[in-house]
Amino acid sequence: MHSIVCLPGDGIGPEVIDQMKRVVAALGVSVEWIDMPAGESAVETHGCPLPQETLDAIREYKVAIKGPTTTPGGGGFKSVNVTLRQALDLYCGFRPVRSLPIPGTTQGVDLVIFRQNTEGLYLCKEVVAGEVGSREVTLTARFTEEAMLRLARRAFLFSRHAGRTHATIVNKENIHKEWGGMYHAAFSAIAADFPNVIADHMLVDAMGMRLVMNPGAYQVIVIENMFGDILSDVCAGLIGGLGVAAGANYGDRFALFEAVHGSAPDIAGKGIANPTAILLSSALMLEHIGHNTEAKRLRDAIDAIYSEGALITGDLARRYPGITPVGTEAFTDALIREIHFAS
Ligand code: NAD
Repeated sequence: MHSIVCLPGDGIGPEVIDQMKRVVAALGVSVEWIDMPAGESAVETHGCPLPQETLDAIREYKVAIKGPTTTPGGGGFKSVNVTLRQALDLYCGFRPVRSLPIPGTTQGVDLVIFRQNTEGLYLCKEVVAGEVGSREVTLTARFTEEAMLRLARRAFLFSRHAGRTHATIVNKENIHKEWGGMYHAAFSAIAADFPNVIADHMLVDAMGMRLVMNPGAYQVIVIENMFGDILSDVCAGLIGGLGVAAGANYGDRFALFEAVHGSAPDIAGKGIANPTAILLSSALMLEHIGHNTEAKRLRDAIDAIYSEGALITGDLARRYPGITPVGTEAFTDALIREIHFAS
């Protein structure tokens, strides 16, 4: 029996998390879920978006899975994700992008984005001066060699372990010469210890274009926080959208698994969200706790569902002409049937 902390989160979070729990049980993995509050819903019940007891539980049990949490735009509380990543030192954002057999999506993509998660542009401090009409916003961002050294080490160790032979550092060093150059040098220093992995470099704007035109050319991408946030959504778009984009956040002591998508207020409560992204994130979690076979069975079952194309949620139904979209639960029912059928 594994004890895993679960943060259902906001919006579609609880809807997809419930289905993830059903699927993990169907795979025969025994989990004690320790549900903890986080997000806008926690503000209502606990007076803050990330109660101390939630952080304490993750520190105690070491592994957590999370639904999306709402962050108010233009004011309000700080992002729960940012706070979690910093408080738990989850410095590595791990975003696998693998093609699924979905018509009209790009095939042959199988890359992993290693996104720096705890510093950089995404976490810059904003200072506003002046009056409305003549305001000025000054940004201060922090970049450290240490952060890139440990991210790159993880990326190269992963490459060696997973048989990947090509890793690319992505930055904007022609403009941001100092931090771009420093990140690149740190990446190269680690690359020197992994002669079997070809290490190269790409500017982020060129990379955006190449990912759209020839994503199959890349295996491992190592990237700054904000650039990684943006390119992960570009990659999600290639393979079918946010409904199928998985993720994990790793540190040296803790791991937190979550889909790339947000709380999707436009469809929350309707029972139509696609649970694939959190399910693929749970496959990473299963591998992390030693259930590689079950993770593979889950991915194979997801592939089979998209290949059959009979029971598909609304976000992807237009790619299967003539079908009527199914809801979150019916999709999961079909997936569980597939898991049982294949075993
Ligand atoms: P979003 O990802 O919530 O939604 C973008 C679009 O994708 C919407 O049309 C939505 O319906 C659709 N979508 C997303 N996930 C889907 C799924 N599983 N199935 C079907 N359709 C899906 O992005 P947003 O609207 O920009 O953000 C909404 C809120 O979520 C904001 O408060 C934002 O800060 C937060 N957010 C949280 C996380 C996180 O907790 N990891 C990530 C991104 C955004």
